[in-house]
Amino acid sequence: MARRLIAGNWKMNGTTASIAEIDAIVSRLNDFSDLADCLICPPATLISAFSQRSGSRLKLGGQSCHSEMAGAFTGDVSAAMLKDAGASYVIVGHSERREFHNETDATVAAQAAAALSAGLTPIICVGESLPQRKAGDALVVVEKQLNGSIPDCQSADHGFVVAYEPIWAIGTGEVATPPQIAEIHGHMRSLLRARFGEHGASVPLLYGGSMKPGNAADILNIPNVDGGLIGGASLKADDFMAIYAVAVGED
Ligand code: PEP
Repeated sequence: MARRLIAGNWKMNGTTASIAEIDAIVSRLNDFSDLADCLICPPATLISAFSQRSGSRLKLGGQSCHSEMAGAFTGDVSAAMLKDAGASYVIVGHSERREFHNETDATVAAQAAAALSAGLTPIICVGESLPQRKAGDALVVVEKQLNGSIPDCQSADHGFVVAYEPIWAIGTGEVATPPQIAEIHGHMRSLLRARFGEHGASVPLLYGGSMKPGNAADILNIPNVDGGLIGGASLKADDFMAIYAVAVGED
């Protein structure tokens, strides 16, 4: 089984005033055993400042990266830049990037490959829309995204994470049911085993979509769920750490 990972996605929220929230997370982490990894992905502008305060227990990540390391790509940030700023992870293929920036599976695979070569762990996001779920296509959609968004690395040993985030559950307060999550995560595990052999068994699989302190235990107890990717509830140290407490069994 993979080590648990509780990851916060701050999206386009936060300024240097948010340093207080990071300080609170760093300090609260000391109250818990180190049984799960804890990660915050703030806007790229804050990674460097946060890395001065984060200590060794709180990891930092970017929310996207370009597939090239440098060049004429105005407004973009490369994996090497994120690494330089203090990141060790980067989210790629979040549904908001796929929707608002037209990122395809091929784009996401190239970004994940760039992340790996810069020494970052990519968190590769997949997930179906509501019409796709209603049409009974959730498994097929996720399978296609998973196959197309993971780069051609020789083994899962390279260190990547997959996050299943049904689009209809992101920021809506609606959570996928345990059987729905179990079905998708079980399928993703089989696909990873088929492609990467025994290494596929230890790729951390996160669930994301309106995860909160009150539903974290139910979600984290589902087979093949190794952690969470958390949006809204990661913005407040109290909520985020309450989810972390569940992950380490100290709630
Ligand atoms: C997300 O943006 O990745 C997410 C899961 O958001 P929320 O927790 O707010 O649904």
